[in-house]
Amino acid sequence: TNECSVHLIVKAANFAAIAHRTQLRKDGSTPYINHPIGVANILTELGGVSDPNVIAAALLHDTIEDCDVTSEQIEHEFGAKIKSIVDEVTDDKSLPKAERKRLQIVHAPNISKEAKLVKLADKLYNLRDLLRKTPIGWDTKRVQEYFEWASEVIAGLRGINKPIEDELILVFAKKNIKL
Ligand code: NDP
Ligand code: ZN
Repeated sequence: TNECSVHLIVKAANFAAIAHRTQLRKDGSTPYINHPIGVANILTELGGVSDPNVIAAALLHDTIEDCDVTSEQIEHEFGAKIKSIVDEVTDDKSLPKAERKRLQIVHAPNISKEAKLVKLADKLYNLRDLLRKTPIGWDTKRVQEYFEWASEVIAGLRGINKPIEDELILVFAKKNIKL
């Protein structure tokens, strides 16, 4: 029911806010929680997505990767469906960074539709963030390489949400990359 969805989404936002409470984005000043909230907002406002499990998973998408949260905790609080979406968008931090980045490209075509939606919105948010302000310590070359890698991941996520994909095409065009 609607009542359940409101409860679920507020609970996910609160859980993420607590998990990310001490973290900042790589611009060195923006609270990290702005990112998962913004990803959820891209899905609802631009993507027209209304599946509560996808929106809750978007709010929670970086809590395992970047905080001391476990997959079991997500399952206990939010159930098996949301846990599985968050797992699908979580990198294995025990692997070297280059391998993690390669695996995102390899895995993208094979993840669920729900996980693809979260990943598309996550990439759009991060690319817009890079255009807004260069992260501390990054040069032009690193930004360009990030866009090129992201375009390879997104190639495996196409065909599920036209408004988000159209916006990604525009963002990549600014860096002379054809999606
Ligand atoms: P990182 O993975 O280190 O950083 C990008 C990630 O940081 C995003 O995916 C996002 O993930 C998070 N993030 C936090 N704050 C911001 C912000 N303000 N704007 C955008 N993203 C933010 O980047 P890469 O290692 O991929 O670097 C890009 C390229 O540069 C690579 O192709 C690499 O070859 C090259 N390079 C890498 C170096 C390195 O040390 N890794 C050094 C030099 C070059 P989330 O959604 O999880 O928050
Ligand atoms: Zn993210």
